[in-house]
Amino acid sequence: PVFEYAPAPESRAVVDIAPSYGLFIDGEFTEAGDGKVFKTLSPSSEEALSEVAQAGVEDVDRAVKAARKAFETWSALPGAERAKYLFRIARIIQERSRELAVLESLDNGKPIRESRDADLPLVAAHFFYYAGWADKLAYAGYGADPRPLGVAGQIIPWNFPLLMLAWKIAPALATGNTVVLKPAETTPLSALFFADICRQAGLPKGVVNIVTGDGSTGAELVAHPGIDKVAFTGSTEVGKAIARTVAGTKKKVTLELGGKAANIVFDDAPIDQAVEGIIGGIFFNQGHVCCAGSRLLVQESVQDELLDALKRRMSTLRVGDPLDKNTDIGAINSAEQLARIRTLADAGEAEGAERWAPQCELPSSGYWFAPTLFTGVTQAHRIAREEIFGPVLSVLTFRTPEEAVAKANNTPYGLSAGIWTEKGSRILWMANKLRAGVVWSNTFNKFDPASPFGGYKESGYGREGGRHGLEAYLDV
Ligand code: NAD
Repeated sequence: PVFEYAPAPESRAVVDIAPSYGLFIDGEFTEAGDGKVFKTLSPSSEEALSEVAQAGVEDVDRAVKAARKAFETWSALPGAERAKYLFRIARIIQERSRELAVLESLDNGKPIRESRDADLPLVAAHFFYYAGWADKLAYAGYGADPRPLGVAGQIIPWNFPLLMLAWKIAPALATGNTVVLKPAETTPLSALFFADICRQAGLPKGVVNIVTGDGSTGAELVAHPGIDKVAFTGSTEVGKAIARTVAGTKKKVTLELGGKAANIVFDDAPIDQAVEGIIGGIFFNQGHVCCAGSRLLVQESVQDELLDALKRRMSTLRVGDPLDKNTDIGAINSAEQLARIRTLADAGEAEGAERWAPQCELPSSGYWFAPTLFTGVTQAHRIAREEIFGPVLSVLTFRTPEEAVAKANNTPYGLSAGIWTEKGSRILWMANKLRAGVVWSNTFNKFDPASPFGGYKESGYGREGGRHGLEAYLDV
């Protein structure tokens, strides 16, 4: 079917975006030293939303110095006092969640249903969760008096801007560190709104500093001698560059990198439930998800039945205006990312896989990609090996559980996997064999702040979330 696009009912009027934003350093918004700025666009309309300061080397230095100074008093505060600030931040996020959800959908392109029902509740939950740890660190299992590391330089991607910020900032602050965070260049706005929330919460100056800019700003932050820890989420390529930069320095590092997850469906799986999990696994957030279930491994005997059901369900997905509550798939985050997705999808066709997408009318402006399925994919195909980071699913088949494990593990990545079967013993056997940091069974893309998240192999190292997430910010 071809869908009619309803006008956006979730009004952008709930968010007041200023024409320009400065950097947030030592509790104040300030211009970049050299006055440089860049524009952030709405990927669904290609309109500029605002102009944002591009931090240079001197700005990064100012931010790190502010964080160093603030560390002296922040780290000396009793945990119960730090907890009060984090609880306050969590509550303000809840109060302002409608505004923040619309902002996130405008700057990132994700459907409002997802930013409202997934991103924002999880952001608040992370702050509540780590607020609870701040006065209980002696019980975290890292000794009676674990110490904060100092100043954390944190770099995040554009796929879950505010959620990645929460994953980074909440545990760092709870453990007594101070931070300089750099959001991605295509989605800087929610981090700047978060800076405003820090002020609203009365957070002491310099505890949180936000430096907006591109990869060069990130590289300057990583190289700065005044930081004690680097926390990075993004591409494996940049993660490797960061690891090289900090090798041999005092800096500790955690890396959350790419993925190429297998979603494995056995012939005894409830097909309708599996189809929903496959759809959510690859099309949630336009597939801009490091743990996306981008490889469907289906047992040969149910391949036809499953693919028929999957195609029927894909035909009901609505692609369009991120602010429309009925939208399932929003805009691709940037022209560059759209080009990357197109290149890999074209390679899939050129290498002989069969491409299928439901008929769907894409909006004329903005960056869009229809939900796409490739069958006849072999392990040699680029679409089976490389992270596409878009709404593209590659289907492979298997006959035995052993073959499923071998194919699932045949990737340099190891972030996540999914298993669909009625058989509990098989779930446990598979979960132990899969080289992946997260294994879901009969569900996919479920998150909880109490659960650690992170990769094996080239998906990175270190864990975020849960008690394990504290360790990344403590000398234990
Ligand atoms: P990226 O790694 O280029 O960018 C992530 C962040 O790192 C951004 O804030 C960016 O400005 C910063 N950065 C870039 N170069 C840097 C450098 N040399 N030193 C320090 N910081 C630097 O990722 P991207 O361009 O946004 O996306 C590229 C690919 O990365 C995607 O196609 C996908 O494969 C992967 N990705 C993975 C995740 C994840 O959550 N694991 C998230 C986003 C992107």
